[in-house]
Amino acid sequence: MKLKFAALLLATSAPAFAQQQPQPVAYPPSVPAPQDVAWPGSIKLAVNIADVARHVITVHETIPVQKSGDLVLLYPEWVPGDHGPTGPLADLAGLTMQAGGQKLDWTRDTVNVHAFHVNVPQGAAAVDVDFQYLSPASQKEGRVEITPEIIDLAWNTVVLYPAGAFSRGITFVPTLTYAPTWHYATALETAQASPGHAEFKPTPLNTLVDSPLYAGKFSRRINLNPGAKPTVFLNIFADRIEDLAGNPDQIAKHRALVQQAIKLFGAQHYSHYDFLFALSSELGGVGLEHHQSSEDGVDRDYFTDWDKTVADRDLLPHEYTHSWNGKFRRPADLWAPNFNVPERDSLLWVYEGQTQFWGQILAARSGLWSKQEALDAIALDADDMQHAIGRAWRPLQDTTNDPIINERRPQSWHSWERQEDYYTEGLLIWLDADTLIRQKTNGAKSMNDFAHEFFGMNDGSFVTLPYTFDDVVKTLNGIMQYDWANFLRTRLDRKAEGAPLDGITRGGYKLVYTDEPSPFEKSNEGKRKYHDFADSVGISLGADGSTISGIVWNSPAWSAGLMKGGKILAVDGLAFDDGDDLAAAIKLSHRTNDPIELLLQYGKHFRTVQLNYTGGLRYPHLERVAGTPALLDDLLTALK
Ligand SMILES: [Zn+2]
Repeated sequence: MKLKFAALLLATSAPAFAQQQPQPVAYPPSVPAPQDVAWPGSIKLAVNIADVARHVITVHETIPVQKSGDLVLLYPEWVPGDHGPTGPLADLAGLTMQAGGQKLDWTRDTVNVHAFHVNVPQGAAAVDVDFQYLSPASQKEGRVEITPEIIDLAWNTVVLYPAGAFSRGITFVPTLTYAPTWHYATALETAQASPGHAEFKPTPLNTLVDSPLYAGKFSRRINLNPGAKPTVFLNIFADRIEDLAGNPDQIAKHRALVQQAIKLFGAQHYSHYDFLFALSSELGGVGLEHHQSSEDGVDRDYFTDWDKTVADRDLLPHEYTHSWNGKFRRPADLWAPNFNVPERDSLLWVYEGQTQFWGQILAARSGLWSKQEALDAIALDADDMQHAIGRAWRPLQDTTNDPIINERRPQSWHSWERQEDYYTEGLLIWLDADTLIRQKTNGAKSMNDFAHEFFGMNDGSFVTLPYTFDDVVKTLNGIMQYDWANFLRTRLDRKAEGAPLDGITRGGYKLVYTDEPSPFEKSNEGKRKYHDFADSVGISLGADGSTISGIVWNSPAWSAGLMKGGKILAVDGLAFDDGDDLAAAIKLSHRTNDPIELLLQYGKHFRTVQLNYTGGLRYPHLERVAGTPALLDDLLTALK
């Protein structure tokens, strides 16, 4: 015993056999960085989307080459609009390559797994590449892009491209095979088409990836800018033919959206614009901006149950705004020369925050929302950010990293971790700026002038114009001299309590709480299938009506030790059915002053807890402050 102990001491203090510490193995040469050069020739890209039964898309490419040796092909990793490395690399399969009938073995780069090396033989003029893109079979694997009635084809999922050149220097000639009875829509220019087959005009890779295609069994095309140029089309694809029915009043509101956007921004940066709009209960919902189009997807009942779909009606205004904000004007550090070098997201509070702002304002100005609906939406925005108490440790600026850090995965403690708050808090900051300009210039100037100045140059051009923080400040100062750099940095960098609500108060309103949700909030809850008690007990319930989908950090439910995932089985000793039972219990406790008792199940564990809360139901609203200028009303009013 003693001897062993002594041996152990000896072994730890002075090893008998000194061992070399590990050293890193040298990395292989990195893949060629993109240069501002043209890739010689055109790449033929043949995509077959006819296999809608199995969600398998087959791809054939012919890539011209000028020299033998190592060729590096890239699968897009950074998907524009996602602001993060979200390319679906795991769904690429069946990759084979050949040249002049000779099979070539490829290898994947050991560091950059989106890069494939192939040794081009002497004398080869082109490399032929075949692979499949296995589009998700269900929502568990990823967003569903293919149904028996609709396909959403994003070209970045079906392309390999050579490393070494900017994406604008690589020309593609895309062809498409699809079900012959279907129709398609895209911002791409068609060169020739016959049923089931289309060939598009030669297109640089950056425009190709920016020009997705919808195809479907049931479609309808509506001119939203009739009698004028450039054309703006609403291309609707639906699960059922009857879902295509938009009535004249609904269509008029979408036409008003186009008119209001053109009046706001002045110039247009597309030769034509195509909304690709899917109405489906099976296709995954989507809102993804492009320069001359957008991928938009909501539930089937957008037109047919108009009163219940109010929460979806700022989607098209938001994505359309991105043609100006995000696509034509783009943060300089976010612009990337190809799809495999990192984007930086520091200015997303402009790119997304101001788009969220204009999206909601344009929804109101076009009549897609009533003024009251817009006020109710802003109340929810303000309330949502009031819950974001994670601002105590994480400033808004830092949330712009979230698309890279989190890629929209669910979180346990939403309010404390913070997510992509630059959308909603960005909106509140621009509302703050708008009312400040209106107040200080006696209504002569507003954010309308910023929109015109910042996005309204170079009419007809869709060459992206990058900008920096200083450019934003400079344009603001051109509209009204103020310490805008400090105004913005304070709001972006502070770790303060409470959301920035000055825009609401200066706009002539205040955020108040009542025991009734607004019709807008009710509709939103119905649409998104949740029941929100965040402002009272701090609980949100998910789609099944009884499972806790979120707990507000520091709320009464938090103090009772609850976290998300639990299922409420009983409240105050009675079996629990859905959110109405919790609402009734919150009302009762307000009257009796007694705590609320919950029986919960977390997996195999059952717990009884008391919520020490007697404040009653609370839902956010904006209330007009009499005798103050209604600057918010001015902002929501349609432009003449
Ligand atoms: Zn957006």
